Amino acid sequence: MNRKGILVVLSGFSGAGKGTIVKRLLSDYKQYALSVSATTRAPRPGEEEGKAYFFKTKQEFEKMIAEGAFIEYARYVDNYYGTPKEYVRQQLDAGRDVILEIEIQGARKVKEQFPDTLMLFVVTPDAATLKERLTGRGTESPDVIRDRLRRASEEAEGIEAYDYLVVNDDLDTCVAKVHALIESEHCRISRNTDYIKEMQKEMKSFCSR
Ligand code: 5GP
Repeated sequence: MNRKGILVVLSGFSGAGKGTIVKRLLSDYKQYALSVSATTRAPRPGEEEGKAYFFKTKQEFEKMIAEGAFIEYARYVDNYYGTPKEYVRQQLDAGRDVILEIEIQGARKVKEQFPDTLMLFVVTPDAATLKERLTGRGTESPDVIRDRLRRASEEAEGIEAYDYLVVNDDLDTCVAKVHALIESEHCRISRNTDYIKEMQKEMKSFCSR
């Protein structure tokens, strides 16, 4: 059976652990590809060009917008973030499940263009844990942390647009849940119509022998 790749949006509050979950999915299973976004935000220590993001100036990013290079893009706390089209298309065609780790406005645009996108939202067990994680990672200034928490509170209002909520309490459990949700999605009847038609034809031909 030839599986078609699924487009998976993984959103969640900044600090909820999306990045760690995606890293684990990529290292534990072969079926996934991560879409590397372009951004105008400055690299954090250890973030490599082309791995974490394609780091762009505002001018470069706006040129890409004008050229229609993005499936979607959004502004998030004073920076642009966008999903380049080409790689996503290639990976889906190769049968991989492509993960877009993006915020909520971009997620909505993806869902409009590709209605069968699987939409997952990751949260921390509670708001206090979120604040602790954001502060603890020590990569953002207090002002940016405050803006990100405000943004998280706005994003919480949009969770109903997603298909599944995953609480990131224990990482292993959370990764297993996300993988299981994606595997279940592959079993959806509407994603297997060609296979089903083929099977129905074979069954009929058995009966007429
Ligand atoms: P960070 O600066 O923490 O890496 O990312 C900030 C937010 O931007 C996160 O919620 C992340 O998921 C989101 N993000 C990253 N890449 C993209 C993208 O290509 N498009 C959109 N819409 N959001 C993105």
